[in-house]
Order: sequence, then structure tokens, then C-alpha cells
Amino acid sequence: MQTTSNCPRCGAVIQLQPHPARPGRLVGYCGCNPAGPVLEVDAGPDPLLALPGVDEEVAADLHKRGLHNLANVRWVSDEELLAVPHIGERTLEKIRAFLAQEDEK
Ligand SMILES: [Zn+2]
Repeated sequence: MQTTSNCPRCGAVIQLQPHPARPGRLVGYCGCNPAGPVLEVDAGPDPLLALPGVDEEVAADLHKRGLHNLANVRWVSDEELLAVPHIGERTLEKIRAFLAQEDEK
């Protein structure tokens, strides 16, 4: 997922973050425009959907918990993942196995 871009106004490198209101979109803020975002782009396919047992509903729940990509999910505790509706022990195991496999690539 694209996470940095250049400000279309001043050219500075800016961090993109998930749009607070529109799923699937990213926004970028820059010091040159304190009034609001300077850039809004399509986030592309949700990287969380690559996880086994994660459909769009589960992915939306993960995003609400601040988990926006595979790296976020990797570092979160098992307890936190199990607190997400539709993620049980079995799904958790599959997710952990999937992430371990990604590590070996
Ligand atoms: Zn700027």
C-alpha cells in the first residue's frame, strides 16, 4: 500500500493515512495547508483481505482498531485479534501461519 506521496502544492514528502470517513481512500496532510488534506488517493485493494478468514466485514473491524496492514496485524497481541468479531482461535492460527509464511519470502 502506498504510504507516502508528494504534496501537490509544495512538493514536500507527506505521509498518507486512511481517510477518516471514506474507506478505501487515503489522505495526506501537509504543513503548507493547515486547513485540510492536500491530497486524496485511492488506497487500492485492502491488504488485510489477503489474510485467511478475513472478509470485508472483518477487515473493517480491524481498521477500526487501528490495524491497517499486515505489519500492524503482525505486531498486535493474540488477545486483541481474538477480540475482533468473527476471529476465533482457528482463524487466529491461520492468520499467524500466513504471516509466518510471508516472513520467509
Ligand atoms: Zn505542502
